[in-house]
Amino acid sequence: MSIFEDTAPRAERPRPLRVAVLGCTGSIGTQTLDVCRQHADKVRVVALSAYASTDALVAAAREFGVAHACVADTGHAKDSVLDELPEGCSLTYGPDALAELAALPDVDCVVNALVGAAGIRAGYEALKAGKVLAYANKESIIVAGDLLMPLARPGMLIPVDSEHSAIFQCLVGERTRDVHRIWLTCSGGPFFGMTRDELAGKTAADALAHPTWLMGAKITIDSASLMNKGFEVLEADHLFEIDIDDVRVLVQRQSRIHSMVEFSDGSTLAQLGPSDMRIPIQYALSYPERWETPCERIDWCQESPITFGEADEDTFGCLALAREAGRIGGTMPCVLNAANEIANEAFRRGDCGFMDIERIVSAAMDAHEPETVSSLVQLEEIDAWARDKARDALGRLG
Ligand code: MG
Repeated sequence: MSIFEDTAPRAERPRPLRVAVLGCTGSIGTQTLDVCRQHADKVRVVALSAYASTDALVAAAREFGVAHACVADTGHAKDSVLDELPEGCSLTYGPDALAELAALPDVDCVVNALVGAAGIRAGYEALKAGKVLAYANKESIIVAGDLLMPLARPGMLIPVDSEHSAIFQCLVGERTRDVHRIWLTCSGGPFFGMTRDELAGKTAADALAHPTWLMGAKITIDSASLMNKGFEVLEADHLFEIDIDDVRVLVQRQSRIHSMVEFSDGSTLAQLGPSDMRIPIQYALSYPERWETPCERIDWCQESPITFGEADEDTFGCLALAREAGRIGGTMPCVLNAANEIANEAFRRGDCGFMDIERIVSAAMDAHEPETVSSLVQLEEIDAWARDKARDALGRLG
């Protein structure tokens, strides 16, 4: 008998857990496969998708002996390497096939590691089909949270984002109505402490130089602009049903504390650990259990001091824009996300400056009349509209 009363919703998970990894060749995807490799007795990979990296897709499909493979970019449908998929493995193409992969009857859990708005539909289909959704695609919640959250039953929607995994872990066994505030931690990014004048001259190479976390290029730029942190504020607001202004961003340069929850009585719980995405990925698969770590353990006696600071929303305008989009709600976060995808890409190509990212996003938001979110089709249309507005704004920078 334990002295603790377990009030957490504890969903029973099948064993082995049959997993589909969407976006299996990206940063989160490959780290997910790493976790699956280490826990082959508990997890079976049954379905994989890749956008265009068919070589890596086929290699993973052969290693795990999967039953289903999907290539999202139809331009790669004829790649000769696909002939080497394992015997009996089904192969499908395109965005519709990707959404179908998320709802396959022989899948228990979908790891959504797709990048950007492209991942929203798959997450929606997974929840609708009653799958456990371990999502790294935060756009699913930021843009389509109004549609996805009502579909999420207890224990079936688990964040992979390190901060939200931390908050989730701090809330297991707690009551959300006892939450006073969420402290969402932030490494500060590569440009922490700089002025707007200093930021104006920064290039994509500067942003990509020294990441604290091992991440893809898109999210590394979003981390430098703090747009990623802004997205995470929106994500927390949806996921934990907390007022957006009760989500405070806390700069924690060492990335040891992955976020904290402050309760009504003033007690604050934090989740600490290595800065390694495999831990939150694994937790999303193992919940409500914990499995042996995939990482080197930390000797806290040897750690340097942990420091705190405040995020500067005046300097990092993207963070302020995201919070504003969240306060407005409805379709505004869709516009924020779509315009940012265009600006982020343009910045990586060298077609605009660092400070232009927030100018482009702000221009698209200013032009938008927000609506209540009613369907994925509506969101896809507004996404396309916002991309056009962002391209117009980019053109005007000239
Ligand atoms: Mg994060």
